Amino acid sequence: MSDDTKNQHTTLNVTKAAVSVAGTVAKSTPLSAVGVALDVADVGLSVYDDRKNSTTRNTVTTISATTAGFGGGVAGGLVGATAGTAICPGIGTIVGGIVGGVIGGVGARFGAKKAINKVGDDLEYDIEILVCSKCGEQFECHVYKTGRAKSLCEDCR
Ligand SMILES: [Zn+2]
Repeated sequence: MSDDTKNQHTTLNVTKAAVSVAGTVAKSTPLSAVGVALDVADVGLSVYDDRKNSTTRNTVTTISATTAGFGGGVAGGLVGATAGTAICPGIGTIVGGIVGGVIGGVGARFGAKKAINKVGDDLEYDIEILVCSKCGEQFECHVYKTGRAKSLCEDCR
C-alpha cells in the first residue's frame, strides 16, 4: 500500500469514526436531553393552554414546529459536519455537526412557528369574531391565546 493510499484510508476512517461519535454524542449528551425536555414541556404547556381555552391551535403549532425543528437539526448537523470535515477532519466534523445541528434546529423551529402561525391566522384557526362587552364593537378574538372569557376588544382591555 502506498503512503498516499494509506493516508486517504486513515482520513476516511477518522471521518467515519467522527460522524458516528457525533451521532452518539448528539443522542446522549445532557444538551440534547435538555432540548427534548424543553420540547416536551413546550408541548405540555400548549396542551394546557388549549384545554383552558377549548382550542387546538397551540398544540398543533407547537408539535408542527417541534417536528420541523428536529428535521432542521438533522439537516443542519449534516451541513455542519461536512463543513467541519473540510476545515479539519475529526474534531471539525464533531464540532461542526453539533453547532450545525443546534443552529439548524433552532432556526427551523423558529421559522416554522412563524410560518404556521401565519397560516393559522389566514385560516382564522381558533380566531372568533366577538362583540366587546364594554364598547359593543366587533373584534377578532385570538381564542387560542386569551380564551373566550375575555370578551373585551383590544382598546377596552
Ligand atoms: Zn371595546
